[in-house]
Amino acid sequence: MTIVTEGLSPVASDVVSLEAVHIVQVYRRQPIVLVRGSGSKVYDADGREYLDLISGVGVASLGHANPRLAAAISAQARELLHCSNLFFHPLQGQVAARLSRLSGLSRTFFCNSGAEAVEACLKFTRRYWHTRGEPRPGLVALESSFHGRTIGSLSVTGEEHYRTPFEPLLGNVTFVPPNDRDALLNAVTRGIGAIIVEPIQGEGGVRPLTAEFAGAIAEACASTGALLIADEVQCGLGRTGAPFYFTQLGLKPHALALGKALGAGVPIGAAVISDEVANALAFGDHGSTYGGNLLACRAALVFLEELIDRGLLNHVASVGAFARAKLSELARRHATIQEVRGAGLMWGL
Ligand SMILES: *Cc1c(COP(=O)(O)O)cnc(C)c1O
Repeated sequence: MTIVTEGLSPVASDVVSLEAVHIVQVYRRQPIVLVRGSGSKVYDADGREYLDLISGVGVASLGHANPRLAAAISAQARELLHCSNLFFHPLQGQVAARLSRLSGLSRTFFCNSGAEAVEACLKFTRRYWHTRGEPRPGLVALESSFHGRTIGSLSVTGEEHYRTPFEPLLGNVTFVPPNDRDALLNAVTRGIGAIIVEPIQGEGGVRPLTAEFAGAIAEACASTGALLIADEVQCGLGRTGAPFYFTQLGLKPHALALGKALGAGVPIGAAVISDEVANALAFGDHGSTYGGNLLACRAALVFLEELIDRGLLNHVASVGAFARAKLSELARRHATIQEVRGAGLMWGL
């Protein structure tokens, strides 16, 4: 392993050298050691300031070191951090009720990450068909999609290079190109249990699904009974200026995977599902030790209050309109820019 510490201060170079020996090398990190943040800025170990345009890959939804969030989670830490899912606590129901109001779906299962939320959606939709005594293990997913790194979520991720080293994965997954209406309608047969899509593909290059393709998804679900899983781990919860992007497309998912922005930096994921799917589940079917603990739920409540009650969503919409105008202007001036894609504050050039 080559350790590059050239140009780094002694403090930063110690951090890099320690990792080079002890950390599993799956991340090709930038040679920057971040120690502090404030709003949209982060600072490195040598006090250099950076404008954070990726917000920790869609996570720091309230900015860094948000004072309300910091106060709430430190107060929660002094009361009770965790109590396991063997008992009730006051916060899970409150977060779930808000997610229901926003999404139109009825029930939430809490977990700790986006991949786990996708995993739960895959398990729940599979359980739905099992309960009906009509197993439909087939899945349809999109090329250039990203759904996570667990074996299940990886199985529906449409990037060969993520999948190949870990095969065999789940079988029965058919990939179709995003926005290819005919390919989708051909792929979704009566053996397909669920279709999984990101309403705007994130890792795949910020590719929104078209309204026409959304129409084909709805048609395929209606004619075959296949369930729809919307993965809004990246595009959901305000990023596009709307609570969810599936509503913009007129889609009606049976399961919704959430993560990233929901905890504003505290790990939490959620699978929000319809009554018909939820009714197929029995006690003991799924679970999580940490899922929806008090710390994570407290953070999610602060985030949802900011998003809905304190105007963050409207702010994204107005700042997003500004971003769209400026990016379009850039594209008009530079022939190398072929396309500007996205919505709200989620843009690809
Ligand atoms: C990031 C992402 C995931 C995986 O989330 P993790 O928290 O990294 O497990 C799943 N789906 C989409 C669309 C994502 O962007």
